[in-house]
Amino acid sequence: MDGKILDNDISRVVEADRAHVWHHLIQHAAWTGEAPKGDPRIIVEGRGMRVWDQKGKEHLDAVSGGVWTVNVGYGRERIANAVRDQLIKLPYFAGSAGSIPGAQFSERLIAKMPGLTRVYYTNSGSEANEKAFKMVRQIAHKRHGGKKHKILYRERDYHGTTIACLSAGGQDERNAEYGPYTPGFVRVPHCLEYRAQWDLEGEEYGIAAANAIEEVILAEGPDTVGALCLEPVTAGGGVIVPPKGYWPRVQEICRKYDILLHIDEVVCGVGRTGTWFGYQHYGIEPDFVTMAKGVASGYAAIACCVTSERVFEMFRDESGDPMSYFRDISTFGGCTAGPAAALENLSIIEEEDLLGNTVAMGEYMLDQLRALQDKHAVIGQVRGKGLFLGAELVSDRTSKEPTPEKQVQAVVADCMAQGVIIGATNRSVPGFNNTLCYSPALIATKDDINHIVSATDAALTRVFG
Ligand code: PMP
Repeated sequence: MDGKILDNDISRVVEADRAHVWHHLIQHAAWTGEAPKGDPRIIVEGRGMRVWDQKGKEHLDAVSGGVWTVNVGYGRERIANAVRDQLIKLPYFAGSAGSIPGAQFSERLIAKMPGLTRVYYTNSGSEANEKAFKMVRQIAHKRHGGKKHKILYRERDYHGTTIACLSAGGQDERNAEYGPYTPGFVRVPHCLEYRAQWDLEGEEYGIAAANAIEEVILAEGPDTVGALCLEPVTAGGGVIVPPKGYWPRVQEICRKYDILLHIDEVVCGVGRTGTWFGYQHYGIEPDFVTMAKGVASGYAAIACCVTSERVFEMFRDESGDPMSYFRDISTFGGCTAGPAAALENLSIIEEEDLLGNTVAMGEYMLDQLRALQDKHAVIGQVRGKGLFLGAELVSDRTSKEPTPEKQVQAVVADCMAQGVIIGATNRSVPGFNNTLCYSPALIATKDDINHIVSATDAALTRVFG
C-alpha cells in the first residue's frame, strides 16, 4: 500500500460516515450514540486479494468484497481503463436504444450459455430477479388467462431485497417485519441433506427433495404454477450443494407441468463455482438465468436477466397490440460502464484461466477445511463447490445442535483481528446462522488459502478451545 490513505483527512471521513451513512446489515448502536463502542469500518483500498482499512491495516479478503462479488480481485486497471474510455465516449443512454458494449457483452455472454439467447440489462440482483418474476406474470396473462402466475421458491434461498424478492425469500429472519408480502409466491422445502427431512441418503435424498417440489405443485394445482426459482448452490442460507439426483428430477418436474425454471446465479454466476454458471454442473436447461455480483466483479453495477428464445418469443408480436411487449425499464440498465466492465472481466477470467484455478483451488480449500474438521469437533460439516465453501458449526455432532450465532460471530471477529475477512450466514434462518462462509477471489493461491484456513484454525481454538 502506498500509504496515501493515511493522510489527515481520514479521521474526518470516519466522523462523516459515523454521522451520516446508514450502513447495510448492521445495528448502528455499535458506533453511534452518546458512548460509541468503536468506529465504523471503512475499506479504503484494494489490490489482488487484499484490502486496507482506515487505520492502514491489511486484510486478506476471503469473501470477495464482503458478499461474494469481486471475482477477479482488486486493482484491475484494464477494467478501470475500459470503463473510463467508455464513459468518455458515451456514459449513458436508456429507453429502447442499445449500446455498443451492451451488444458486445451480450454476444460473449450468450456464447457461454447454450440454449439461452437474450440478455435484459439491469443493475442489481434483486432487480434482475424481479424482471424474471414480471416476465412470468406477463406470460401467465398472455397465455393462461392470468392463472399460471404462482412462483415457487425454496426454503433457505434468497433472491433479493425488494418486497417481491422477499416474498420469494426462504430466509425468515431477513423477511421478518417487512410484510405484508406480495401474493403468489409459494415455498418448497430445502434440500440440505445434513439437516435431513427424509430418512434417505445421497441420490435418493436428492430425488426425494425434488419430489417434495412436485407435491407442492400438485397441492397448488399445476395450472396455477408458472415458475420455479432456485439458487444452484444456496448461498447465504448455508452454502448448500444439492445432492445428486436433485437437479435431473427438478428439470423433469418442470417439464412435466410446463413450469419455467428460473436459476438465480447472482452469487454462483461468472465463475464462482468453477464453471461459468452454477447450473452448468448439473446439465439443466433453465428458461431464466439471473446474475449480478460476478458479472463485472463489482467494478460497475450491472446485472442481467438472461432468457431462452422460447421466453423471448412469447413477447414478440406482430399484431400491433400495444400491450404485447415486456413493458419494463431499468433507468440504470442504460449505463454503459456495466457492460464495458463486464467485457474486460470476462476476458480476464478467460485469459488467466480463472475457472481452472477455481476448480483446483476449490478442491484444495475443501481438503484443507476437511482437515480442520478432523481437528475441531465444532465443525459439523464442510461443503461447497469451487471457491464457494461453508463450514457448518454445531455444538454437538450427534444432535447437530447449531452453534449459537454469538460464538460463530466471535470466530469471524477473531479472524478479522488476525487480518483475514471471512463471512457467516447472517440472520437468515432462525437459529441456523451457524455456517462460516468462504468465497475468495478466483485468483486465490495455495498460500492465500493456507492463510485463510490457519486463521480459522486459530480462531476456532481461541473461541472453542
Ligand atoms: N440472489 C442471491 C442468491 C443473492 O445472494 C443476492 C444478494 N446477496 C441477491 C439475489 C440480490 O442481489 P442484490 O443485492 O444485487 O439486489
